[in-house]
Amino acid sequence: MITDMNQYIDIGVNLTGSSFKKDVSAVIERAQQAGVKKLVVTGTDVQHSEQAMLLAEQFDGICYATAGLHPHHASDYSADTGSELRDMLQQEKVLAVGECGLDFNRNFSPRKEQIRAFEAQLEIAIDLQKPLFLHQRDAHDDFVSILRSCCDQLPRAVAHCFTGTIEEVNDYVIFDLYIGVTGWICDERRAQTLQQAVKHIPLDRLMLETDAPYLLPRDLTEKPPEKNRNEPCYLPHIAEAVAHYMQVDVDCLSESAYENSREFFGL
Ligand SMILES: [Zn+2]
Repeated sequence: MITDMNQYIDIGVNLTGSSFKKDVSAVIERAQQAGVKKLVVTGTDVQHSEQAMLLAEQFDGICYATAGLHPHHASDYSADTGSELRDMLQQEKVLAVGECGLDFNRNFSPRKEQIRAFEAQLEIAIDLQKPLFLHQRDAHDDFVSILRSCCDQLPRAVAHCFTGTIEEVNDYVIFDLYIGVTGWICDERRAQTLQQAVKHIPLDRLMLETDAPYLLPRDLTEKPPEKNRNEPCYLPHIAEAVAHYMQVDVDCLSESAYENSREFFGL
């Protein structure tokens, strides 16, 4: 029954990528049908943040944007980048600074430059008192020590696409971070650590995201409309998996994640 359907907010969708170019309206329509009412479109550099902003205008009341520089692009950070991001963040539909953070897994930008760009974006979030959308991969210790250095002033922040350990959850909880979980949890090859860790995430700190077009849940029974491409309409499937591993009722989990996301982004 439609009235019983859970509502969702996908807090991380890379809808500005080329893989969504030709059918973005259909993708959003499928999301709406599945109860995924609002989408926060991730900005990964200045150009994609601008595109995210345009989507937020085009799909008014459904799409929202973040503005930031992904650690992969950290080498591009300049004073101009900073002021462009600040300008965008004045817009009503640009809800958070990010994604920003550290990615020592691939080191597309040198670590030093990642740290510099991350600190600069933290400063922007602190100045503007905007929430932070954070990315961290294989850089937990540096990430935590940078957060610690500004923890008195830190606005609310979410560690998106969390794939880490119980210890990492506990560290994040100390900083009062929110934690975003994706369909990574559905991956029977590499999700054991995460499946254990989610039990330790407080329900009032949990948010859900697809990180589409990446991370298509590996245990879907249906074929996605576009081969191997993840879509926001699969968020309810992710909620089922997270509820299973957290050992909580899926309706209760979905409602918490929805309320947490609404409050976090001010929706
Ligand atoms: Zn990310």
